[in-house]
Amino acid sequence: MKALIAGGGIGGMTMALRLHHAGIDMEVFESVVEIRELGVGINLLPHATRELTELGLLEDLAATAIETRALSYHTQYGHHIITEPRGLAAGYKWPQFSINRGSLLMILAEAARDRIGAERVHAGHHLDAFSQDADGVTAHFVHPQNGEAVAECRGDLLIGADGIHSRVREILHPGEGLPNFSGITMLRGVTEQEPFFDGRTMIVAGTWNERMVVYPISEAARKKGRSLINWVAEIRDESKVLRKRDNWSRIGIKADFLPAFADWHFDCLDMPRLIEDNDVAYDFPMVDREPLERWSFGRVTLLGDAAHPMYPSGSNGAAQAILDASVLSDILVKTDSIEDALIAYQNARMAPTANVVLSNRDFLAERVLRLVDERCPANCKNIHDFVTREEMEQFSRDYQRIAGFDKDSLDAKPSLKSV
Ligand SMILES: Cc1cc2nc3c(=O)[nH]c(=O)nc-3n(C[C@H](O)[C@H](O)[C@H](O)COP(=O)(O)OP(=O)(O)OC[C@H]3O[C@@H](n4cnc5c(N)ncnc54)[C@H](O)[C@@H]3O)c2cc1C
Repeated sequence: MKALIAGGGIGGMTMALRLHHAGIDMEVFESVVEIRELGVGINLLPHATRELTELGLLEDLAATAIETRALSYHTQYGHHIITEPRGLAAGYKWPQFSINRGSLLMILAEAARDRIGAERVHAGHHLDAFSQDADGVTAHFVHPQNGEAVAECRGDLLIGADGIHSRVREILHPGEGLPNFSGITMLRGVTEQEPFFDGRTMIVAGTWNERMVVYPISEAARKKGRSLINWVAEIRDESKVLRKRDNWSRIGIKADFLPAFADWHFDCLDMPRLIEDNDVAYDFPMVDREPLERWSFGRVTLLGDAAHPMYPSGSNGAAQAILDASVLSDILVKTDSIEDALIAYQNARMAPTANVVLSNRDFLAERVLRLVDERCPANCKNIHDFVTREEMEQFSRDYQRIAGFDKDSLDAKPSLKSV
């Protein structure tokens, strides 16, 4: 059996590593001409680090990422709402890592090149079209910049792991158009500063309309007594309309965002300084797509953001792509029929990921911010008189269960070695 993987991002590279572990042949075709560090911070929750640990990547991740121990919620006035322990500190057997997306990609890409052979990872191969017949799939690749044909490859199945603007999805589901825009625009950047709290804590602060998500991402900086702090500043303007596809590397204009956060001088962290002290920030609209009713068509299926792009609230985008790869590989290894395997994969993953998409649209993971904003008078400090700790903790438990990282189900899951 040979799989063609379109897209060498987080999901595509993990898929290659899982298939290699399962003894299934594959090749990865990535659009960008050079696979290099792109993106800013990303979180890997214990359900994802478990999968990457089983692929032997724990040491590399721990050497690069921050092992995150707490998530602290604050109001827009800087008042503390609640702190949740995370990862190992919350009793999980696997850590939560906060990491630069580019560093994570390079860990996966280097492991893939080492294990499957660099000749099986093709950069500058943008999937343009495919056809399938009773015996296999033929995929056509073009150069991403000039559109000229670069290769035609044959395999037994095609996995569309080609991200939020997936060409594979566009072919399978024509006419979907642009993604759904939440009205929220995110400015994303990284700033080196002195550590806040213990240097391993994530802060989520604000309201339904304005929010900051902040966390350190570099173990190397931490060891030097500094913090490389990833931050996302979000502002909502529902009158805004998405007119074209955006890309993750577009430079943002800080002056458009700074006024909304001008007074956010918290005791633990000065948010305006965090934004101002950074060299380059990127903006991106917060988008998702409606959950699909079908991912698998014969020998072709979708994975990761191509299948279920979601708002990055709740830190689950990368994790769900990694889980897709694990499930698909486990199913493929046990099957005689590729078509049946792809349907089984769709049946296993489509409903759970749709629930995460919808929960993220509702900001379930961070609902506590909205509740506090709605119930508490402006600048109030006695927050727990208006929202109980039990209510707050319940949101978190609900989200863990929906996204598949509640401790009990994670502990009960068989390990890769037993599959
Ligand atoms: C450049 C970049 C920067 C990002 N930065 C962040 C960030 O800072 N924070 C965050 O939360 N998320 C970020 N993301 C998104 C995040 O990586 C994904 O949401 C998540 O990891 C799911 O992974 P995925 O593999 O499904 O998608 P992705 O990681 O997006 O990977 C998709 C891959 O497919 C490639 N591709 C696209 N079209 C084709 C095609 N037709 N043929 C072949 N290859 C194709 C893309 O170049 C990309 O490498 C970024 C994605 C990209 C591509």
